[in-house]
Amino acid sequence: MITNKFMAELTTKKISVVVPLFNEAAGLEQFNKSITSVLNEALGSYEIIYCDDGSSDSTSEILHKLSASDNHIRYISLTRNFGKENALSAGIFYASGDAIMMIDGDGQHPVELLPEFIKSWLSGNKVVIGIRQSNSKEGIRKRWGSLLFHKTFNKITGQKIPAGSTDFRLIDRSVQQAFIELKDSDRITRGLIDWLGFKTSYIKFNAKPRAQGSASYSFNKLVKLAINSYVGFSNTPLYFFGYLGVVISALSFILGLAIFIEQLLLGDPLSWKFTGTAMLAILTIFLVGIVLTAQGILAVYVSLMHNQTKQRPLYVVDFENSIGLARNNKDAQK
Ligand code: UDP
Ligand code: MG
Repeated sequence: MITNKFMAELTTKKISVVVPLFNEAAGLEQFNKSITSVLNEALGSYEIIYCDDGSSDSTSEILHKLSASDNHIRYISLTRNFGKENALSAGIFYASGDAIMMIDGDGQHPVELLPEFIKSWLSGNKVVIGIRQSNSKEGIRKRWGSLLFHKTFNKITGQKIPAGSTDFRLIDRSVQQAFIELKDSDRITRGLIDWLGFKTSYIKFNAKPRAQGSASYSFNKLVKLAINSYVGFSNTPLYFFGYLGVVISALSFILGLAIFIEQLLLGDPLSWKFTGTAMLAILTIFLVGIVLTAQGILAVYVSLMHNQTKQRPLYVVDFENSIGLARNNKDAQK
């Protein structure tokens, strides 16, 4: 629970809670009730921003009703289903609090942990991430898939994201400001927040079963998300075949040279007896290697273009810890 020291500080702050929703009508009122009671107990000033991601059930009607009866509640209605990542971004964009908490609207993220996140933020962390403890009820495919993804993702991108890292997270207003600058289109919200690199802490939680309905993220969608993450945050997949080409060319070249010397120049003293067909095969493999190498060189150019088109900022400044500079040049000139 929040201590008195934090309590005093909290009364001067505003918390925004962002909730993406896609066809969550069945459990929405219950969710709203539980999150409102936690927020009322813990906080002075807050807003809940529901983002209806093009639901086709009565999510939007319920949101109208809820926002009419409680002025802490705002909601964004997207014209169609843009996917959770984009819905979250919309919510983050419109949030006006000093800290922004993201939480799923299906009851899987424990609302009672909210004070823990806020406490960690008040003690100086700019990003507080919920780490999902592995859930035995979850399919083995999803569990192992997630573990494999985190291991390979960290390896190829050089980031250090713990396995089980989720969207159940809190970000400081300064992180929100930097996040809004990011222009990536096929975005992975949590990946972008991690990329920004602010001071981070972690809170473990056990995901509850979905209150109502079924998860709209199928295994296939998760695989697509994983592929987008690799491609969005690393150019290693682009370079991979180039490296492979170099290795293939080098090995077949060495073998070809050895055969040429041993068999054609020296008259086969080791009696290797390579046939013409085998030599032709080695020549073909060598040429395949050359083609892959050429593709790898092309990949270098493509990756430079890829980085350029993402238009990521060249660096992210932590203004709170920087001394003697204004947020942008215009301010500095004033
Ligand atoms: N969601 C969304 N748009 C979508 C899919 C999901 O806004 O296209 C919301 C959904 O309503 C829920 C959260 O994102 O609040 C997590 O979705 P889900 O439970 O389907 O995913 P999982 O629990 O498997 O991560
Ligand atoms: Mg869920």
